[in-house]
Amino acid sequence: MEQRMVLVKYGEIHLKGLNRPYFKRLLRQRLQNNLEGMHCQVLEMQGRVFVSGFEADRETEVVKRCANTFGVVGVSPAARVDKTMDAIAEAAVAELKDAMAHRGLAACTFKVRARREDKTFEPNSQGIAREIGGRILQAMDNVKVDVHTPQITVQVEIRDGAYVYASAREAVGGMPIGTSGRGMVMLSGGIDSPVAAYTMAKRGMTITAMHFMSPPYTGQAAQQKVEDLTRRLAEYCGPIRLHLVRFTEFQEQIYEKCKHELLTVIMRRCMMRIALAVAQRDGEQALITGESLGQVASQTIEAICTTDAVSDRPVFRPLIGMDKTEIIDIARKIGTFDISIRPGEDCCTVFVPKHPSTKPTLAVVEAEEQNLEMDRLVQEAVESMETVVIKRAQ
Ligand code: ATP
Ligand code: MG
Repeated sequence: MEQRMVLVKYGEIHLKGLNRPYFKRLLRQRLQNNLEGMHCQVLEMQGRVFVSGFEADRETEVVKRCANTFGVVGVSPAARVDKTMDAIAEAAVAELKDAMAHRGLAACTFKVRARREDKTFEPNSQGIAREIGGRILQAMDNVKVDVHTPQITVQVEIRDGAYVYASAREAVGGMPIGTSGRGMVMLSGGIDSPVAAYTMAKRGMTITAMHFMSPPYTGQAAQQKVEDLTRRLAEYCGPIRLHLVRFTEFQEQIYEKCKHELLTVIMRRCMMRIALAVAQRDGEQALITGESLGQVASQTIEAICTTDAVSDRPVFRPLIGMDKTEIIDIARKIGTFDISIRPGEDCCTVFVPKHPSTKPTLAVVEAEEQNLEMDRLVQEAVESMETVVIKRAQ
């Protein structure tokens, strides 16, 4: 009787020495979370993590969800069959065909690799590989054996049953969420900040998001966009807390009372102050932004230094050295790009200076900020903030 399962390969968590059991437990937990609703179990057997118990028509979704879990470097759909050569050969042919279809190959080279945990099984590993390889060649005329650099390796493992699968499919990699502290991403509706959030989450950081909106200048569409972006990120990160901050009064005051060439940098510093107040309250250890050096006037090194000056904790800018095209490639890959390019006002595009200063100095910026009721505005922004928890779309 064939049973379907998904084998999960994990990467860097190997490196963690003594912490290994902890990292593995977290990885299993994250897999379980990402697989919510799929009615399956995440199990571990002799160092292997695998998922089983799902219904056959859910397999594609289960594979996708496993591949989108940080810490996983590869996934292989697998068959668990009876320990007979007939059953193994049949499964091997099916898995090879499936792997070829997945990679769009009309023909390919392959080899069979076998392993016995159950040493009572006959023949031995080499015997299994030879026999199954021969049966594959009999059944398919578009494949050839290449033992050195095969395009696809068919793996057979003899344990409590026979496990048959082909080369692993690529997964997101990184580290399980929760292994690298907590960070708050400043999430606009743009292309960059969702990619920044993804990049830090990939390193194991638990992500919270904060979005600034300026009603009535920005509307429901902008908020919807940010919620949709967060929902997409939740496919990788699990449920995400999203803080929605009303920023209108702040922006109006800045516009009225500060030099226009400094609007953007002051606005950025005010956003950061609000984020820091909430970070302190909630124990978020770092802030994350989608800035990339030199991309726009507010992202010159001078502007970034001026913005950083308000922060008492690290501000991560994982995209700082990337070109826009590189960022867009990632945005497409993770599925945020199409949402990001939907039209919708951002609060930063409402009050834009005609000639923004590219070299603001801290002294001048601080002097201008004296004109603002900083403490009151920060406090009110935090108090009137709304927080929603966003889960993946089911
Ligand atoms: P993005 O594509 O992420 O919007 P951007 O290239 O448009 O970035 P800016 O508008 O200069 O760049 O914003 C720089 C960073 O400031 C953003 O990446 C984001 O982290 C933060 N930010 C900007 N606007 C908002 C907002 N409305 N809410 C939350 N964070 C924001
Ligand atoms: Mg933007």
